[in-house]
Amino acid sequence: MENNKKEVRVRFAPSPTGYVHIGSLRTALFNYLFARHSGGKNILRIEDTDQTRKVEGAVENLIKNMKSLGVEFDEGPVQGGNYGPYYQSERIDIYRRYSDELIAKGFAYYAFETPDELDEMRKMQQLEGKQTMYDRRARDLSEDEVQDKLKKRLPHVIRLKVPLNDEVRFNDVIKGTIKIETNIIDDQILIKSDGFPTYHLANVVDDHLMQISHIIRGEEWVTSVPKHIIIYNALGWEIPEMAHVPLILNSDKSKLSKRQGDVAVEDYLKKGYLKESLINFIALLGWNPGEGEEQEFYTMDELIRKFTLEKVQASGAVFNVEKLNWMNNSYIKNYDPDKLTEMSLPYFEQSGFDTSDIAKIKKILSAIRVYLNKLDEIPQHIKIFSRNEVELENENLKEFLDSDSSKKVFKALTEKFKSINEINAENYKTILKDVQNETGIKGKQLFKPLRIALTGSENGPELPLIAEIFGKEKISKLLEKWI
Ligand code: GLU
Repeated sequence: MENNKKEVRVRFAPSPTGYVHIGSLRTALFNYLFARHSGGKNILRIEDTDQTRKVEGAVENLIKNMKSLGVEFDEGPVQGGNYGPYYQSERIDIYRRYSDELIAKGFAYYAFETPDELDEMRKMQQLEGKQTMYDRRARDLSEDEVQDKLKKRLPHVIRLKVPLNDEVRFNDVIKGTIKIETNIIDDQILIKSDGFPTYHLANVVDDHLMQISHIIRGEEWVTSVPKHIIIYNALGWEIPEMAHVPLILNSDKSKLSKRQGDVAVEDYLKKGYLKESLINFIALLGWNPGEGEEQEFYTMDELIRKFTLEKVQASGAVFNVEKLNWMNNSYIKNYDPDKLTEMSLPYFEQSGFDTSDIAKIKKILSAIRVYLNKLDEIPQHIKIFSRNEVELENENLKEFLDSDSSKKVFKALTEKFKSINEINAENYKTILKDVQNETGIKGKQLFKPLRIALTGSENGPELPLIAEIFGKEKISKLLEKWI
């Protein structure tokens, strides 16, 4: 099945839409992993022949995003290469050459129907309960009729002449053998009336000319393959290996869509999902390194080492945000503290937090990072560090502060503070032990009022860490209020 003798050359062929869809990132990632795993080349080709869908800056944005996520290309618009240009819009003449060849060999033909005529055709077919497709009527035009219409410069397209009463069969590495009767395949438009190629022609021509060995892309393209095979055969070209990766699904098993959450990679990055965890999570959407493999965490290098197409599953892959959150939380918990601090600064700034004291930010992060599923949750966890007054989460908590025993604790603690320079997580614990011995108050009765007095809440980061970050002045001030 593997094309051992040929050099592995794969491509990611996006149509730039202005943002990178999660599914596109997965396709790009699988291509990259496969290329690196097999020592081949990863190519970026921009499929921008649909002039109506052009978005300014989309390609630059895409390349920037891929690069920052660690998905690299060996050939493409930036690096160049021997098979360029890598923008389809710069290859229009090439496609024209092959559509001419297809016409000359009798595998394609001119068709002159107006949009109204096509509309009429579709309506009739619907009325008759037939499959709506081009009824192949222009196949019957005589050579003279065609030449006459061309001379009159009538608007026209070029269509593929699908061989009738036949069957197209192909093998997909992931989906297995697929076969389809040619009679239900449309005479696909290859060149549109504006002279631009359709996806189908341009895609086949480029995959051939760029010597692509394996086509790895989303399952939504599998229905196009029969048309492509007919074109490959008509031009006498070898068909690359095909691997259609499963759809990404919402948790209700519908196709991942904007309506049920974010689909743009940028949105996830903005929310503070780390690049490493996003890549890790996306790699596992439809790929699993092997039965019984319990491992969930992979670096890019490990992914490269383990990735094979054989381990890509055929059925849809559910995009489970809870799992992504869990994974991201794990990455955040274990991330290098300095790097995490740097990445977190924008989220501190967002909530107006003074970021001049980096050491303090780092300490705060060490206290709160276990709670973060993503970095944009930072603002809600740092309120306790930025305010000077404590707001009680609810009024009932007040009773814990008003009791005689908590007053005793607060008093003893502030008294102890007077004899030390500054507190840190370590000496705070010792001091608290002393307070316990002195007052005879321990456990919940000791800790709970303190936590509530300092944070206004019953839960939160570890108190010794909070104490170190607050410092003794602030703690004393907050406690004095209740003494
Ligand atoms: N331009 C298509 C896309 O936007 C490429 C599909 C393919 O890889 O053939 O995904």
